Amino acid sequence: MELTELTALTAAEKIRKREISVIELTNAYLNRIDKLNGKVGAYITVCEKQALRQSESVQKKLNCKENVFPLAGIPAGLKDNICTKDVKTTCASRMLSNFFPPYDATVIEKLSEHDVIILGKLNMDEFAMGSSNENSWYTPVKNPWDPERVPGGSSGGAAAAVASHMSCFALGSDTGGSIRQPASFCGVVGLKPTYGAVSRYGLIAFASSLDQIGPITRDVADCALVMNVIAGYDPLDSTSVDMEYPDYTTFLKNDVKGLKIGLPKEYFGSGLHEEVKEKILDAAKAYESYGAIIEEISLPFTEYAIPAYYIISSAEASSNLARYDGIKYGYRAQEYADIIDLYKKTRSEGFGTEVKRRIMLGTYALSSGYYDAYYKKALKVRRLIFEDFQKAYQKVDVILGPTSPVTAFKIGEKTANPLEMYLSDIYTVSVNIAGLCAISLPCGFDTKGLPIGMQLIGKPFDEGTLLRAAYTYESNTGKSGVANCGI
Ligand code: GLN
Repeated sequence: MELTELTALTAAEKIRKREISVIELTNAYLNRIDKLNGKVGAYITVCEKQALRQSESVQKKLNCKENVFPLAGIPAGLKDNICTKDVKTTCASRMLSNFFPPYDATVIEKLSEHDVIILGKLNMDEFAMGSSNENSWYTPVKNPWDPERVPGGSSGGAAAAVASHMSCFALGSDTGGSIRQPASFCGVVGLKPTYGAVSRYGLIAFASSLDQIGPITRDVADCALVMNVIAGYDPLDSTSVDMEYPDYTTFLKNDVKGLKIGLPKEYFGSGLHEEVKEKILDAAKAYESYGAIIEEISLPFTEYAIPAYYIISSAEASSNLARYDGIKYGYRAQEYADIIDLYKKTRSEGFGTEVKRRIMLGTYALSSGYYDAYYKKALKVRRLIFEDFQKAYQKVDVILGPTSPVTAFKIGEKTANPLEMYLSDIYTVSVNIAGLCAISLPCGFDTKGLPIGMQLIGKPFDEGTLLRAAYTYESNTGKSGVANCGI
């Protein structure tokens, strides 16, 4: 078995038992990146020297038996919208192609404190806007299961890196599905934590009321281990929730007896691919056989989730991205007549098509005369979607459905039609709109051999139930996420 095939849990155990060294493991990953990154395009920046230096110092600490953290010595990749001190952080945009943050995001500080090795920065859709990774200013990422297909987005580099064993785990960000949908397209596990559970300090903002950082891992146990490191209160993020955070590994139990699982009827209608539907219903049956109680529920406002999401997220993005003006940091146009021309040229040249589309949409929705008709209305819909879930959770403990209506599509298939691309987020955006938590985990393959993901949606701060339900399914069916994607 290759060292890069080990999950974080197993590799960390072997490190502690001295069966493998941190340097050996890091080198194995760096070699694999060297071999495969040209094909997959998962990394924008590889921190080879830093990773080796860090692994030597972690190995030294381990030798002295100092602070042996559960993930000590595990190499990880980070989505390139998470700030890393003195390491280029581009958001896959020309606008930030020269940006070296002067500080670390809180999650990075936590990973470093826990002796996780940082391998590099992962490709994504520009400013996390997209569902296919085709919006990267760098290269589009290829799906490791079929290089002609997209890995999903916007954390496509993160999911592809974990699936192709170029990183043991990764951190992504999810504003409307960007952790879960690529995890589902690449056959790995992705958790979008409850809004406020993981600090956003140092996450480059897309839509601040929706963004959340979370883990992409090979299996459910690794997901719990990473959550133990990154979740928690952070005074540097005013939306971070100050409460007791559990030890997420305590939920890794093969037991769903009596757990009430809801199947929203709106999630199984037209638009959902037959093969995906079949696998999700199989999973529901499997849960029933493990002792869970399956119930049909209704989330009647689901049909308004996509329009509400695209108005709210674009409105917030238009405001957040106003800071990129060529003055303070980032890209600046070379030639310009005056300050207005500098702004115009910088933003025209620095941003890609999709980012410009969102800025225009958001500016329009916020402009006087249209604010009430669009933005305010979208906020009302947001409340109604939240209430849909509140009502559902009076009946059930957790909600089961597909992560995406389809499996990985071909590169170029949806680029000409942004609306069709937006529709592929139908099952994921409501979770961010309502501030809930959700996990995507592999539940089989379609006839083309592409991974299918199922999504479990939990109450706010009830990641524990998601982990327990996901762990139960995984323990009984085997880990298709660690399956070799053949690359
Ligand atoms: N696909 C969605 C979008 O394009 C979600 C993005 C995300 O979660 N960052 O906005």
